[in-house]
Amino acid sequence: MKLLNRRELLRASAAAPLLLARTPRLFAAEYDLVIRGGRVIDPAQRIDRVADVAIRAGKIAAIRPNISPSAAGEVIEAGGKLVTPGLIDIHSHVADKELTPAQCLSTGVTSLVDGGSRGAENVDEILKTAQSAPNRVRILLNISGRGLADGATELLDIEKANVAAARRAVERSHDWIIGIKARLSRSAAADHDLEAVRRARQVADPLKIPIMVHIGDTASPLPDILALLRPGDIVTHMYAPPPHGIMDDSGKVLPKILEARKRGILFDFGNGRTAHWTWEVADRAMQQGFLPDTISSDIAGAGLMDQVINLPNVMSKFLLLGMPIDQVVARVTANAARAVPEYKSFGTLRTGAIADVAVLEFREGDFDFADNYKGQRTGHRRLFPYAVVMGGKRVS
Ligand SMILES: [Zn+2]
Repeated sequence: MKLLNRRELLRASAAAPLLLARTPRLFAAEYDLVIRGGRVIDPAQRIDRVADVAIRAGKIAAIRPNISPSAAGEVIEAGGKLVTPGLIDIHSHVADKELTPAQCLSTGVTSLVDGGSRGAENVDEILKTAQSAPNRVRILLNISGRGLADGATELLDIEKANVAAARRAVERSHDWIIGIKARLSRSAAADHDLEAVRRARQVADPLKIPIMVHIGDTASPLPDILALLRPGDIVTHMYAPPPHGIMDDSGKVLPKILEARKRGILFDFGNGRTAHWTWEVADRAMQQGFLPDTISSDIAGAGLMDQVINLPNVMSKFLLLGMPIDQVVARVTANAARAVPEYKSFGTLRTGAIADVAVLEFREGDFDFADNYKGQRTGHRRLFPYAVVMGGKRVS
C-alpha cells in the first residue's frame, strides 16, 4: 500500500468522509482503540457491567465508563453487545484445509488448541499450521503416530502408539506441543484404552505436560480410566452417553467421577458431531451440579455447517441448558486459560494483558440447536461474532 503524505491524506479524507472514520488519526490519541458501551464480561476479574474497553500498544489499558471517542484512534461501537476476553477453544481440529485457524479467529477464538489431529510421524503438518496462524495455536500430540490423518481409528493397532517417537516430537517442539491426546472410544482404540493412557503417561510425565483423553463408549469403565489420570489432565466429551460415561444406570453422576474432579482432573464439553453428547446427559449432569470446567467446540471442517458451527454457537447451547451468560463466558475464557498453562495470561481483560477481545451479539429468534444424536431443541437467542480484536488490532 502506498503511504499518503499528510496533504494527500486530508484531500482523500475530504473526498471520502467515511474513510476518515477508519483512517488512523494524524495526532497521537490517548488510546489506539476503544470498544465503547458494551456489556463487559470478564469472569477473571468478576466484571459484568456496561463500560468501555481501552487498548494501547496492544494491551488492555483501561475498563471504565464514558471514555471520549476523541481519545481513541479507532472506535468499535458495542452498544447492546457483549464484550469478552478473546475466546479460548481448548479442543478443536485445524490440521486439514477445511478449517483454518483464521476461520476460528473470525468467530472470536483468539487462542485455540488442536486436540490430537496429528501424531509424532506427521506433526510437521500441524506445526506449520500453528506457526503461520494469525491467532495463537498450540498442539496436543496424538499418542498414535499419524493421529487422525488416516481416519478416526488410530489406536485399533496399539503399536501405533510409540512412546519414544512421541517424546522426541514433543522435545523438538515443546513451545508448540503442550500435551498429549489419547482417543479412547472403542471405535478408535478397541480394548486398548487403558494401555493407550499408560503410553500417553510415559510421554507426558517426564516432560510435565498434561494428557487429554477422549471418552465415550470405551471398553473400560470411566473410573478405571480416571484412575490413571493426574491433576491437570483433561477429560473431553464429558457428556457422552452410556456405556461408560459419567453416570450410573439411574442417571446419577458416579462418586468416582466427583472424586476425580476434586483431585484436579478437568472435565471439558467437546461438542463435535459424533457420539459425544446428548441433551439428556447434559441436563441430568447439570441438574446435579456437574458442570463443565471448559466449553470447547471440537470443531473440524464438517462442523462448520453441522451441529457445531462455531464456538459462540456452542456457548448458546449452554444458555439454552440454563447456564447464566457470565458462567458460559468463564468456561471459554478464565477457565480455559487455567486449563492450558501456556494460556494462563490470556482469557482476561485485566489491565496490562494482551488485548485479545471478542465482541459478541445476541440475536433473538427461533434457533435450532442439535446434540450429536439428532436431538433438536429450539432456543430464542443465539450468540454471533460481531468483532474480534487480537493483540490490540481489529481483525474481524
Ligand atoms: Zn476432537
